[in-house]
Amino acid sequence: MRYANAMSDSSSNAVADRLAPFGSTIFTQISRLAIEHNAINLGQGFPNFDGPEFIKQAAIDAINNGHGQYARMFGIPQLNQAIAERFQTDTGLSIDPDAEITVTSGCTEALIATFMGLINPGDEVILFEPYYDSYPACVAMSGAEAKFITLRPPDFEVNEAKLRAAFSDKTKAILVNTPHNPTGKVFTKAELELIATLCKEHDAIAITDEVYERLVFDEEHISLATLDGMYERTVTLSSLGKTFSLTGWKIGWALAPARLTAGVRAAHQFITFATATPLQHGAVAALRTDDSYYQEFVETYQRRRDILADGLDKIGFEVYLPQGTYFVLADHTRFGFADDVSFCEHLIKEVGVAAIPPSAFYSNPSDGKNLVRFAFCKDEQTLIDALKRMSALGS
Ligand code: PMP
Ligand code: GLN
Repeated sequence: MRYANAMSDSSSNAVADRLAPFGSTIFTQISRLAIEHNAINLGQGFPNFDGPEFIKQAAIDAINNGHGQYARMFGIPQLNQAIAERFQTDTGLSIDPDAEITVTSGCTEALIATFMGLINPGDEVILFEPYYDSYPACVAMSGAEAKFITLRPPDFEVNEAKLRAAFSDKTKAILVNTPHNPTGKVFTKAELELIATLCKEHDAIAITDEVYERLVFDEEHISLATLDGMYERTVTLSSLGKTFSLTGWKIGWALAPARLTAGVRAAHQFITFATATPLQHGAVAALRTDDSYYQEFVETYQRRRDILADGLDKIGFEVYLPQGTYFVLADHTRFGFADDVSFCEHLIKEVGVAAIPPSAFYSNPSDGKNLVRFAFCKDEQTLIDALKRMSALGS
């Protein structure tokens, strides 16, 4: 089993140089293996339950009511409005829904549109690692160069000296993902203030990926755009998938002052042009839901987190309790495997549980070799069943 560069192994594949090193994503590879070995899939982060009925119904109504043609390039007016209202409730910032919001096909498209629209070849972009796998691919597709800052267990805190040293005259942007996949870290106010100061000092933009903004357990989620002087230099990205358990809908958005939105749209108009119209109508219903939805959502996830984290701890993993997201990162060293890939291979084939080997999320894969990532966006019984299977590991 190979995880990195799987597609580039084959000399007959005609992949462009800029993408050949990335192979097929770790999520695709692990989900395929999970099916092959009938393993409980705690790998790729998608819920094993459906999103709310009222959201689905709104999309069905839109289909039945003839909303079948292209949407406005940057989002149907009702959705841009609903996103702006939500952002104002959450952050206190009042923004122009038509000039400052672009609806995209998931946060994934918002990311690549932001890179292609705002980053020039030769620019430097700072990424924290472990990273979400599309970030270095976006850097490569835009012709930029990535500078990595490694977040290390157990606390994954930002090292100030290293971050300062990573900024240079060529720094165009820093990408911040909070709450952070895969560590579960929620960036602190002090860390975000440091990032803000450095962005201002170096006239860099911040790109923030906040797809897990509603999945925060003991801490507070802070949008970087709310810090002094940051709105004007920040592109805030989010999506519907995690918060409403509809990862397959791929409705996302990029929110930024008009000057930066111009770049995002310059790319978005040629990547997808517009996002699926009926699903945008569904998204309006989702974002207009009242706050009790979010409260129940986070409580349910906190229970799932505790079931999985406690269970893994009892089995013998060293667990890094996540402050946010629906992932638990743990150290598997105690079970005697050479690295995360051999551990995950054993786990899928012999134990019947799929998890992600995090070395795929580091520029130097050996930084992730002691780690394993489990997703807990699954019903409680599935988590309990997976733990039962894994209890054999400790013996
Ligand atoms: N960013 C992060 C950190 C993620 O974990 C994901 C996972 N799906 C995405 C972006 C992609 O979001 P979407 O499904 O909305 O494209
Ligand atoms: N965000 C999901 C995860 O981290 C994966 C999404 C994807 O497969 N691209 O598990």
